[in-house]
Amino acid sequence: MALVIKGLSKTYPNGVRALDDLSLTVGNHLFGLLGPNGAGKSSLMRTIATLQDPDAGSIELDGLDVLANKNEVRKLLGYLPQEFGVYPKISALDLLDHLAVLKGVTARGERKEMVEALLHQTNLWEARKKALATYSGGMRQRFGIAQALLANPKLIIVDEPTAGLDPAERNRFLNLLAAIGRRVTVILSTHIVDDVRELCPRMAIIASGRVLLEGAPADALAALEGRIWSRVVASDAELEALKAELDVVSSHLVGGEHEVRVFAQGSPGAGFAPAPAGLEDVYFLELARHGRR
Ligand code: ADP
Repeated sequence: MALVIKGLSKTYPNGVRALDDLSLTVGNHLFGLLGPNGAGKSSLMRTIATLQDPDAGSIELDGLDVLANKNEVRKLLGYLPQEFGVYPKISALDLLDHLAVLKGVTARGERKEMVEALLHQTNLWEARKKALATYSGGMRQRFGIAQALLANPKLIIVDEPTAGLDPAERNRFLNLLAAIGRRVTVILSTHIVDDVRELCPRMAIIASGRVLLEGAPADALAALEGRIWSRVVASDAELEALKAELDVVSSHLVGGEHEVRVFAQGSPGAGFAPAPAGLEDVYFLELARHGRR
């Protein structure tokens, strides 16, 4: 499976340029699309899912022109939108069955088999007869994945699926995505760096509708190796002074003190120790460089 996106641009009627000449290639893997709120992730996901048109650019799915063959593409695609409306009183089993019919799985036997397999796979079998309204956030997201997997899609798009999940639910959900990502191409949009670090062999960082970095998280980390330094500073004033002087990547409060991370080719000064680079360093640095452009 190959998804090739070229030169995608979109300006909404209110003048916001959500996609700005964006190009991206996604192959057979779980692909992480990382970016802050407002970066254009949902706009991109909706465009790939054929729900909105760009002003310019092209998208090809295995050579198929996505924008010119929407109906065909919809059969190849599963989509879990950011806001997934669930029908409160209907059970997971009934809704999934209904959605399977809409996806064109009309043969009763085939449909039953598919729906039951998906409920097992997403660990919702026990709760299949319960109304969706009674589901926890994590169960709803797993249901969202079950519906996205109906009719064996080639490509699954999930938009910010872990926002609002508690750590255990998030973990369970990510494990499910990882298992699915071994069989089907999955694009995971998220603003949570850990989602990408833990799961995705390839990623892109986007902001202001543009790709800032595309590649393997491991390569991005290797490029920073030996260039991240950390130290603890006790006061806000000291932190501000460091920020004025050095390339501060991030600062976190740890036990009332600021732990500062700095990007530098060699030791930035007394008290700094080399620190292993993390994907969060990559992310913050890219966003900061983008802001300075
Ligand atoms: P993300 O998913 O990364 O948070 P979005 O694609 O939702 O980003 O939004 C990108 C930008 O476009 C934001 O500034 C947002 O406010 C704006 N935007 C998104 N959808 C619309 C819309 N339908 N009309 C106008 N502006 C929009």
